[in-house]
Amino acid sequence: MVWAFRAHNDVLLSINIYAYSAFMYIRQRKGPFQRILQTIITRTEKVEKQKKLYRNVVQLLGNIVLQCQMKQIEKMKDFYDEFLRDPNPPGSVFAAKLPACMVTAYKSGKVLFQGNDAEKEAERWGNRSPAVNKPAVKTAGQKSAAKGTVPPGIAQMSVIGSDEVGTGDFFGPITVVAAYVKNENIPLLKELGVKDSKDLNDPKIIEIAKIIKDVIPYSLMTLKNEKYNQVQSSGMSQGKMKAILHNQAILNVLGKIGPEKPDAILVDQFVQASTYFQHLKGQKSIANENIYFSTKAEGIHLAVAAASILARYAFIQYIDKLSKAAGFTIPKGAGAQVDEAAAKLILKKGRDVLPAYVKLHFANTEKAIKLAAKKRK
Ligand code: MG
Repeated sequence: MVWAFRAHNDVLLSINIYAYSAFMYIRQRKGPFQRILQTIITRTEKVEKQKKLYRNVVQLLGNIVLQCQMKQIEKMKDFYDEFLRDPNPPGSVFAAKLPACMVTAYKSGKVLFQGNDAEKEAERWGNRSPAVNKPAVKTAGQKSAAKGTVPPGIAQMSVIGSDEVGTGDFFGPITVVAAYVKNENIPLLKELGVKDSKDLNDPKIIEIAKIIKDVIPYSLMTLKNEKYNQVQSSGMSQGKMKAILHNQAILNVLGKIGPEKPDAILVDQFVQASTYFQHLKGQKSIANENIYFSTKAEGIHLAVAAASILARYAFIQYIDKLSKAAGFTIPKGAGAQVDEAAAKLILKKGRDVLPAYVKLHFANTEKAIKLAAKKRK
């Protein structure tokens, strides 16, 4: 009996070894079947990576943030001496990995407690509620004035940021996003790698956007090409379109987070503040309280960086949709390659489809029509 059982086990083991060897052999060959197998493996790995990121975020959302003095952070560092991690994560003073809690202290004075023991560890160091830097007290006369400079300490405030994508691209819509980032979520976004979308490649933008879209309140306004061409030909400037879209996105977010109010609203500046409000004349509702404008605002507050990532993500998705409809990859930008692509589109589907794909008033339209005529000959 024992013998029979052993033999049975040996056979099973041999089958397993053979099956595994065969699997590895097939995996290393390069045929259509192997390519399919490789795709399945890569997909699975991608899904696993996504899941891991999600788990991290969920953990991070349940974390505790303390605002501390540097003196206290030094004390903490001594206290957690035996658990210190080397090297420190970027921007941090120290990081300590305890059995059931991760403690990360940032140069900004924020200390992040993550994991099952987060509550317990944070309690050692006192006050749970994060210290929010409130903006300077305003006098009555300053109310609703748009200022040229942003208030000091804005980087650590709870801010609605807004930014747009697609204004310089021949193909595709204009996408504007306003996003609300609370003071206590700033370390989380930093950890996720949120920064100016211009410094991130498309795969990274997609990866970050997929996570933050479920984490932070935001509003996306998409001005599709047909509508864009319609209002543009009726005489509206791109600046006015943008002002209207930014204002609407901001109002939507204010509505979503109400009655809570942001410490400030920060718009990535595309016109002077006075021109912005000039553009908004006649709008039913105008968000003008605590609003600031600055160029390169992605570098001033992460809310603008998050908005730029979400706007870029929406733009990429839209371009993908246009590519599917066209039957070939649609390029971004306004260089020679978009003239070529538009010419190809004209030859394939006719000139009448252009308004659904491009911003007609760009000089590229004429170039593409000429190119298409040349190719037809
Ligand atoms: Mg911008």
